[in-house]
Amino acid sequence: MNDTVANQQRNTIAEQLANSGVSRRRFLQFCAALVAAAPAGLALTGQASASQVARSVGRSIRPYVIWLHLQDCTGCTESLLHASQPDVASLIFDLISLDYHETLMAASGHQAESVLEHAVAANRGNFILVVEGAIPTTDQASYMKIAGKPALDVLRHIGSQAALLIAIGSCSSWGGIAAASPNPSNAVGVSEILKDKAVISLPGCPPNPYTFLSVVLEYAAMHRLPALDAINRPKFAYDRLIHEDCPRRGHFDAGRFASIYGDEGHRQGWCLYKLGCKGPVTHAACSTRHFNDVPNAWPIGIGAPCIGCTEKSAAFQIPLFQVVDIHSITPPEALPSVELPVQKSQTAAALVVGAIAGAAATAAAVAVRRLPGRDKPAESEDLEELEKLGALEPKDTDRDSEPR
Ligand code: SF4
Repeated sequence: MNDTVANQQRNTIAEQLANSGVSRRRFLQFCAALVAAAPAGLALTGQASASQVARSVGRSIRPYVIWLHLQDCTGCTESLLHASQPDVASLIFDLISLDYHETLMAASGHQAESVLEHAVAANRGNFILVVEGAIPTTDQASYMKIAGKPALDVLRHIGSQAALLIAIGSCSSWGGIAAASPNPSNAVGVSEILKDKAVISLPGCPPNPYTFLSVVLEYAAMHRLPALDAINRPKFAYDRLIHEDCPRRGHFDAGRFASIYGDEGHRQGWCLYKLGCKGPVTHAACSTRHFNDVPNAWPIGIGAPCIGCTEKSAAFQIPLFQVVDIHSITPPEALPSVELPVQKSQTAAALVVGAIAGAAATAAAVAVRRLPGRDKPAESEDLEELEKLGALEPKDTDRDSEPR
């Protein structure tokens, strides 16, 4: 944490970035990535360029954030911190004022408790509470305690004073892995405890860090929340099935499946449906927004089936290798239809046709990433455009480290 706790002067994000020596170019790169990651459904990024987002964000007061760890593995925090570009990871802590975070703060014991009390008192009704982890409720909620108090009581006490609640990860959204059958601690999500408060759910194991940042910055810069679906997930990140935009979708449509790990189909990058992939029932943006700024860094991208971690009815409820029912076998409009499969009776000609159709569909599946409304300029294109407009310093690597 860069600066903690109560009584600090409220400064804007631009002022904080300048104080921290973050260059304008670095900040614009981050904003371009934000636009690319959350292109639709947000007032902040919906129709905006990176420079417009930078202006809106820069003028905003840094939102105060208190982050509680309950019954969790800390994976959501790890995902946020492990951006492949260290600059982005460090930038995050200039964009938000992270006043309490047990994993990251130096304080511990009584000192940490004092920090929490001061952070809540100084920003009562004005802070964002992020909760990572489930809440055990059985046996007087005694399965998890913080400073001798049940986590359930800590959440009730702090949550009642927050301006906005964000349940980050599947565990805080509905219990996640802690609530897997037989759920011995009767773990539940935040919305089950704070029923009279609006809770934004960002399920995922872990969720994409850009989704979290987009929600927080929308709130800070635009004073509004993104459109939510029926279970309070932001639509911009959870409105489509993974199966719809999956780069292996062409193989699914052509009937080409990996049957066991390491077989020919698996080595060739074919569809993982028969290995238990839950992509056809899972709403998430993993297939188009990968993790840690690394291309293909997501489960299906590295050959592992989707486990459905953003769906309460799938993750940790359906066995990993059990196949799910397909409710919609129609390829998205952006994909060409293909004739299905051809198993034992395949002829050489059918194989050739299938291969061509599958390749076309796979290419189209990649192209679907640039559906109307989602096709913001890529980061480098956006930066070039900004440079042409004179909005950036010249491309001089010596100057990249200069403060703004
Ligand atoms: Fe991709 Fe899984 Fe759908 Fe196959 S079943 S296309 S691997 S999401």
